[in-house]
Amino acid sequence: MHTTALVLFSGGQDSTTCLAQALSKYERVETVGFDYGQRHSVELQARLVVLREIRSQFTQWAHKLGQDHLLDLAVLGQVSETSLTRDTAFRMESSGLPNTFVPGRNLLFLTLAAALAYRRDLQVLVTGVCETDFSGYPDCRDDTMKAMQLALSLGMDKRFLIETPLMWIDKAATWALAEALGGQALVQLIIEHTHTCYLGDRTHRQAWGYGCGQCPACELRLRGYAAYAAALSRR
Ligand code: ZN
Repeated sequence: MHTTALVLFSGGQDSTTCLAQALSKYERVETVGFDYGQRHSVELQARLVVLREIRSQFTQWAHKLGQDHLLDLAVLGQVSETSLTRDTAFRMESSGLPNTFVPGRNLLFLTLAAALAYRRDLQVLVTGVCETDFSGYPDCRDDTMKAMQLALSLGMDKRFLIETPLMWIDKAATWALAEALGGQALVQLIIEHTHTCYLGDRTHRQAWGYGCGQCPACELRLRGYAAYAAALSRR
């Protein structure tokens, strides 16, 4: 029986929904984030605001929410040149992958998260990776996660479970999952405080939250929210 979890938490819509699900399921939940020289510290600030808001608005979860860990992964900037870490425009590469792709980034995140979970005695690693809104990231695939679960469990001689609540659902269903877990209060918290926009835009407030409304991350978020809102109005 699993009772403890470590959530890979970026401060975005997906990982916030994963965190809410972990808090509704497990007795003790900790969070880990990675600072890899993102062009915008907006994301790192959003993490702290979301954690603060969850603690203050959701008393049924607050006592389960433990330590937050931020790991310095500046080294990622040394092995990759992407539009997330450098000032280059977002574009699709000839490989069919967006130039935001850092090869194997999630493998590194999961390995470090497992090492941390080992030390903190946490059993489940929760990550918001998803194959449904497929952007071509091979390190987000279900098979990759299953292989990582095996590799980490063998390599650390401790049974880890990698949980991926969003793997087979689209962005509209992710909004609906947030509502099922924490009602409209959680939906509003996600709209107001989570961050998704690649450009780090916190000045334009849209129906679905802050963002430029143009970049691929905003586009995905707005399409998902529109579908969720349309379904909501038909109920
Ligand atoms: Zn944007």
